[in-house]
Amino acid sequence: MKLLILGGTSEASALARALKDDPRFTATLSLAGRTAAPVLPPIPVRIGGFGGASGLARYLREQRIDCLLDATHPFAVRITQNAVEAARETGTPLLLLRRSEWNSVAGDRWTVVADMQTAARALGEIPRRVLLTIGQQDLAPFRNASWHHYVIRSVDPPPPDVLPPSAEIITARGPFAELDEQQLMEQRRIEVLVTKNSGGTATAAKLKAARVLGLPVVMVARPPAPQADSVADVAAALHWLSVHHDRLSARRGT
Ligand code: NAP
Repeated sequence: MKLLILGGTSEASALARALKDDPRFTATLSLAGRTAAPVLPPIPVRIGGFGGASGLARYLREQRIDCLLDATHPFAVRITQNAVEAARETGTPLLLLRRSEWNSVAGDRWTVVADMQTAARALGEIPRRVLLTIGQQDLAPFRNASWHHYVIRSVDPPPPDVLPPSAEIITARGPFAELDEQQLMEQRRIEVLVTKNSGGTATAAKLKAARVLGLPVVMVARPPAPQADSVADVAAALHWLSVHHDRLSARRGT
């Protein structure tokens, strides 16, 4: 059975590794190409956009893909919308693999906001030292809150033209340990953390560190997920695939 995995997340890579030696499946991983040196799993990888939903639909037809797995980041809205449309147009079964979101616990000081503009405004009028861990694509709104000092952590350095005037860059790739996160916040005298509600374990330590240090967190809520079959972890995705494999085999009489 031929699979296309839309990736760019640790779950997509874990799924690719889990499928590698399973003779029932032939999987290709697709990446957008945003990261300069992605960690590639041991299956065929294609890199770059498809050209919208219609381009993805064309790819599914041409490559005779049996199932589409969208394991992209919960904030990657456009590719997921394209996946839903392309799956509908071609009749390809689609599964969304979305890690669960983070929930606040006792001791957390979260302000939950709907988008990056509101996050920038939530930092307030008094200059603060801000740890920004939102990737490199959504920095522009923080240029309008130029009185704060930003410590920006991302996998690749952001382009200079999107940076707020007072900014320092840390390039690093998770997973991060709680003590290292605490040390980072203390050494850089961080007063507030801004993050997307990405969920997962690889980058959750910063939330614990903020809790321990009593720091406020501006948490950007997830965009709504589309209506589609969804699972929260790789094991559940593998189960879904097994079920679809058996159905397809029964239909093909193999
Ligand atoms: P996006 O806004 O939803 O997608 C923009 C365009 O990039 C899509 O329309 C598509 O181009 C292309 N694209 C995105 N993911 C692709 C994939 N896996 N394979 C092939 N093309 C892809 O996505 P984004 O927010 O820029 O994120 C890009 C990638 O980085 C995603 O794969 C995502 O999993 C990963 N990522 C995103 C975030 C985040 O916070 N947004 C965080 C970590 C990782 P065409 O329309 O031309 O096909």
